[in-house]
Amino acid sequence: MSEKKRTGSALGNDRGRSQGRHAGGGNKGGGAKAAPAWMADLPVRLGQQVEADIVGISHEGEGVGRANGFTLFVAGALPGERALVEVAHLKKQYGHARLVELLEVSPDRVRPDCGIYEQCGGCQLQHLSYEAQLRVKRQQVVDNLERIGKLAVAAGNNEGTASQEGIVVHPTVGMADPWRYRNKAQVPFGEERGGLIGGFYAQGSHDIIDMEACLIQHEANDEVVARVKEIGSRLGFRAYREETGTGLLRHVVVKVGFRTGEIMVVLVTNGAEIPRVDEWVAGIREALPAVKSICHNINVKQTNVIFGDETRTLWGSDVIYDYIGDVKFAISARSFFQVNPVQTEVLYGKALEYAGLTGDEVVVDAYCGIGTISLFLAQRAGKVYGVEIVEEAISDARKNAALNGMSNVHFEAGPAEVVLPAWTRQGVRPDVIVVDPPRKGCDPALLATILELRPRRVVYVSCSAATLARDLRVLADGGYGVAEVTPVDMFPHTVHVESVCLLVRD
Ligand code: SAH
Repeated sequence: MSEKKRTGSALGNDRGRSQGRHAGGGNKGGGAKAAPAWMADLPVRLGQQVEADIVGISHEGEGVGRANGFTLFVAGALPGERALVEVAHLKKQYGHARLVELLEVSPDRVRPDCGIYEQCGGCQLQHLSYEAQLRVKRQQVVDNLERIGKLAVAAGNNEGTASQEGIVVHPTVGMADPWRYRNKAQVPFGEERGGLIGGFYAQGSHDIIDMEACLIQHEANDEVVARVKEIGSRLGFRAYREETGTGLLRHVVVKVGFRTGEIMVVLVTNGAEIPRVDEWVAGIREALPAVKSICHNINVKQTNVIFGDETRTLWGSDVIYDYIGDVKFAISARSFFQVNPVQTEVLYGKALEYAGLTGDEVVVDAYCGIGTISLFLAQRAGKVYGVEIVEEAISDARKNAALNGMSNVHFEAGPAEVVLPAWTRQGVRPDVIVVDPPRKGCDPALLATILELRPRRVVYVSCSAATLARDLRVLADGGYGVAEVTPVDMFPHTVHVESVCLLVRD
């Protein structure tokens, strides 16, 4: 019985900095100002309690509800549920509502494993069973391909079995154990009762809540953060305070190599000097023998950005190492490295399979970061050209190539949409182009160059199904068939969906 009658607060109806964002528009407080005229014509009213059928899940993890024919986003509600909700904010086309009571409960609803799930907001889908999360993620890819890309998806089911013409969207490849998967923690620090605390910002605020365990972090990261709190408190470290710009310790960043077990600890401080720094280093080394690198980053700016410009190594190595498949990577305090190494291997393995390499091909890896996909592909290609806009990332990519003794790779810093045409002028003719753009998708000029170059295959790795669909439309109109798509769950319990797509020249 109680299962059916959980209240909104228990389900985290304030979830989502997202809600705060949407709420920013202006209906705050309700009564003071007269409601605008358009609002009176809507089928729901502010503050009204209505019954809503939840028909989907938004890209921010809220339930998408229908009430009196109107769309209401309801944080904490799941597809297939029916709920009593209270209308909190209204726009002309949609609104947001608070979950008051569940009237019908989805069989996919589960109790979140994490005790601080509601407060934190780092995960958005822990109240949905993992199997259902994977189905929802596949469906989001399908919906985007159909609605934004106007592409035909093979009718089938969540098993990805095609029963007619169209793009095959495979089931989302999930993790056998979807917990403790992150290799990097970035923890803001504060103070409470004279000691250091560290954890996360409470949703929609900058209040730091202490956290002992984060179930999606590698255990080692929790352990390091706990020891940093103890040792830092013992040595009298003060935490940075945003309001006054005083105090020392801002963030602790921990990185762990899943395969190597090596750990890096980075203290981000407001100021260049760490008092009793030798005792600090000795304390960490004694408590945590797996730590191979202790770094110090200085950030004196009043900003939300975690890192400042200057990083020093206090003790040990400047980098730690880890592997994706057989390729070794050096990870420095500032360098970008995929946060879920287990699924990264799955993702890149799919990209490699879709690239269909036999050993001779010329491959371009656009948006290559530190060269992770490039080096993965270089194991099976004739030559790989990687391009990336961040200079430091390209310098890391070159180091990683050397680390693995790979000489069939060439990296260049610059915008992909500029560098690829330059390579073309130099006579580079790729057989395969791999793109892995940021959320905003590929630059139109890059897509145009791909269509001019007409490589046999294009492999599109995407972290945004919406821009993937938009870009696939362009490539499809330009003479590419979208063969298949495999969503890969890189971030279990969050709303993020990553997918790999194979396009073949018609
Ligand atoms: N393939 C890499 C990184 C992908 S993230 C990996 O798997 O680790 C996307 C990358 O695109 C980022 O590193 C970002 O810096 C880069 N980027 C953004 N705009 C770009 C552009 N116009 N040209 C080239 N790279 C760009």
